[in-house]
Amino acid sequence: MADHIDRYPESCPYCYRYIKAIHRWENIPYEDSNLYYIVLQCPDAGCQKLFLAVYKEGKKEDSAEWVLDHIISEKQNATKFDPYISDISEKFVDIYGQAFKAEQMGLGDACGATYRKALEILVKDYAIKKTIKEDPEADSVEETIKKQPLAKCINEYFKDGKLKEIANRAAWLGNDEVHYYKLWGKDYEKLREAIMLVVYYIMQEKAADDLLEEMNNPKSGK
Ligand SMILES: [Zn+2]
Repeated sequence: MADHIDRYPESCPYCYRYIKAIHRWENIPYEDSNLYYIVLQCPDAGCQKLFLAVYKEGKKEDSAEWVLDHIISEKQNATKFDPYISDISEKFVDIYGQAFKAEQMGLGDACGATYRKALEILVKDYAIKKTIKEDPEADSVEETIKKQPLAKCINEYFKDGKLKEIANRAAWLGNDEVHYYKLWGKDYEKLREAIMLVVYYIMQEKAADDLLEEMNNPKSGK
């Protein structure tokens, strides 16, 4: 690995597998630019998609000159989700699409509240599907989960500590939508990013489950 960066992204934004990304190309930062780009490729034979890792100049306390900030892939800016996500919640895909459209039209206030709603629908529909999958007999689970406050749902059904924290903050961001968005304008961006992290978490969990199943039943694998 290039020693001036802290790390490569651990997973592919397209197939969601844990990967050792292939370093394809990097830019030479402009003299006063504080961003550094590396083009990476997914090594998975069925994927092989290219994506961009964006690094920010590291601070003194950071371990490297450039620190991974975010990933840019085609998918992130679109409103198309993997069929697995639409299977969990078609309503989420629909509401998210509405919020995204509102954002594109510059309607920040309106899209913040809609993103918050999308987040809640996704988290709850995921929780419902997961519970039913683990215990098909679970009675009235749908009603119970739908009545739960969003934060409680997040804490109960998501295992990743960091994601939990982010999702909780996002839930809190949207709690008092009207007043909050007037004060803080651009928090809809954070809500959208939190939603993408939740989507990402769900897809990673699926990739891990699929892999486990393949390992348990080698013949059923691809
Ligand atoms: Zn991939």
